[in-house]
Amino acid sequence: MTEFELIERYFARLGPRRTDVALGVGDDAALIDVPAGQQLAVAADTLVAGRHFPVGTRADDIGWRALAVNLSDLAAMGATPAWATLALTLPEVDEGWLESFAAGFALLAGQHGVALVGGDTTRGPLVLTVQLLGYLAPGTALRRSGARPGDLVYVTGWPGDAAAGLALLEGRLSGGGAARAALEERFRRPEPRVAFGQRLKGVASACIDVSDGLAGDLGRLAAASGVGAVVRAQELPLSRALHALAGEARAREFALGGGDDYELLFTVPPAARAALAGAAASSGAPACHCIGEIVAGRGVRILGERGELPVPRGWDHFS
Ligand code: ADP
Ligand code: MG
Repeated sequence: MTEFELIERYFARLGPRRTDVALGVGDDAALIDVPAGQQLAVAADTLVAGRHFPVGTRADDIGWRALAVNLSDLAAMGATPAWATLALTLPEVDEGWLESFAAGFALLAGQHGVALVGGDTTRGPLVLTVQLLGYLAPGTALRRSGARPGDLVYVTGWPGDAAAGLALLEGRLSGGGAARAALEERFRRPEPRVAFGQRLKGVASACIDVSDGLAGDLGRLAAASGVGAVVRAQELPLSRALHALAGEARAREFALGGGDDYELLFTVPPAARAALAGAAASSGAPACHCIGEIVAGRGVRILGERGELPVPRGWDHFS
């Protein structure tokens, strides 16, 4: 199969047809009719085999993940995702792998109305870069920098599940049955909180997605806002599956220090709590829980029942 045939077969028509794509895959660049009066939101994330997912991960899970991590970034801005490019470096042409990869990518792209409009295909060790573009009204984006002392800190969903799922896959955590299946699924198929991020506009004062661990990412939000944050460990939402396999103490470690959650971590001024309840109650929104508050000062503190707990550091590729 030639490079051209590969692109034509697997990537030329991936995702829904969008009328705002004036020219998609096939020319030297794609042309997009950006909705009038909207600001572009642009994010890119690279996945390296063996670093961002275990070698041997199913191709459809890799395809899903490559888009999911970017959808999560746009969700954290409150943007509407629309167009993607895919830079793919492959060790070899394996048609079964490509078929499955494209299917995983297309499934999530379809759920969020994202069209693949271009990319690049080369040979080398397995590396994937997706760039995702979306849009929002100017001035409405959720930023990391808006948190103020007194704001409440919330997180969506069940932090720690994905990290525990990876630990199960890698043999660092043991257990079986439905709990194991549930946690592994949370690692395999992260569900970016796209609709919820859009509902947080005008409600949240700051927002970040949790990719490198809750405590570390809260530290980034706090630093960007020039404030400190306090987390009450007992308030962390721990899923029943995580609790069952890891036990309370280790479950909290997964929730605070584990990565790959792709939940939204955000702050809400006390006066906006009713608005948050409204946003959360609207259809399809995931559960969200208040886990602490923003304070004057710097850094993240974690309060347990018997005093302060050590703060796990976020993932850093170069530390
Ligand atoms: P060029 O050499 O001009 O960069 P390419 O031969 O790399 O063109 O790509 C041809 C067309 O296929 C372009 O429209 C490009 O965006 C698209 N394309 C290449 N690889 C991918 C991919 N993995 N996914 C989606 N589109 C791709
Ligand atoms: Mg090219």
